[in-house]
Amino acid sequence: MSVYLDHAASSPPRPEAAEALAAYTRASYAGANPNSLHTPGREAARALEGARKELSKLLGGDARPSELIFTSGGTEADNLAVIGLSEALRMQRGIRDVVVISAIEHEAVLKCIPELRRRGFETRIVPPTDRGVIECASLAAALDERCALVSIMYANNETGMVQPIADLAAAAHAVGALFHTDAVQAFTRMPFSADCVDAMSISAHKVGGPVGIGALYLKTGIRLQPLLQGGGQERGLRPGTQNVSGALAFAAAAQASAHAHRVYADALRARSSALVEKLVSADVGIHPTVDAAYDEGRLPGTVHVYVRGIEAGSVLLRLDAAGFAISSGSACSASSRDSSHVLSAMGFPRERSLGALRISFDERVSDGELSAFADALIGCVDSLRR
Ligand code: PLP
Repeated sequence: MSVYLDHAASSPPRPEAAEALAAYTRASYAGANPNSLHTPGREAARALEGARKELSKLLGGDARPSELIFTSGGTEADNLAVIGLSEALRMQRGIRDVVVISAIEHEAVLKCIPELRRRGFETRIVPPTDRGVIECASLAAALDERCALVSIMYANNETGMVQPIADLAAAAHAVGALFHTDAVQAFTRMPFSADCVDAMSISAHKVGGPVGIGALYLKTGIRLQPLLQGGGQERGLRPGTQNVSGALAFAAAAQASAHAHRVYADALRARSSALVEKLVSADVGIHPTVDAAYDEGRLPGTVHVYVRGIEAGSVLLRLDAAGFAISSGSACSASSRDSSHVLSAMGFPRERSLGALRISFDERVSDGELSAFADALIGCVDSLRR
């Protein structure tokens, strides 16, 4: 049986999500369209609204159920926010034709840039510091009265570094721009509030829910131009029959994940530190990407290291054969041999980036499993060197 240490790519289903799915299949309204007027349809709609309510409570602050729009996942939520908010603001106030995005965003945001340019927007990219953090001063240098939208992620999917979202949002608001954050990695994994942002993307499979459902939080009063044409579902902002079973499982998984992270955050931090310490002290050329002094500013349960002089792919495959599943950078770009855009934006030399490994886990991974993994990684690097 393999030890799964790739929770940042996708977190294994939580039992609560599986139970919510099983309960759905037994329900009298199973399979009914929540937009139908008959009794099963109305019951399905009630179940959907229940899931929306539970999820909104987990967004913290004053988030309301009516502020959540279900989507097919984090990618769709990001596209909808980045393109839809920019378009809506430009329609309202024509001079707003600049979109500001950080250099460390997930592809779901970054790859909106060509589409934004095609639509006539100028895009500006904000660089991170060498530890992968977007500072307010760097954002401020990109801001002016032409900015429609700023999109900066809550926590990075490769390094796990948490961004100063409240301050960044305040800087965007100061020039009249909207602020969106991709919170796909941060949601339920850290203390959290949607209060300071206008829009926020979340995804179920990062919290132990099913793949294929996510949501966009959209603050009341903020206008959004839909990307899809169709029925009037989700207030017309995201047409298409809603995924009721997915929403129920998403809500159940998110509740369980938030609870687990409240209880185990310190333990996860301690396990991450112990793992890095063991890897580094083995003295085989494994180094933390960002100095341990900044561990407080990282998502608990995300470890990012690089192996000097050895490509991550060969380490990864050997570990896989030994029963340990980890990742080199982000899963979405795992098939590409290009070095990580996040690490190169941080000023990391290419040869170090090529040796980068991400190890991500939650409370379901034991100390013993992590220790066995560390032994396997050290042994693997040692033998590759010889
Ligand atoms: N944003 C971030 C930060 C992610 O880590 C991911 C998943 O890899 C996504 C967006 C995309 O989410 P989904 O897989 O639900 O489309």
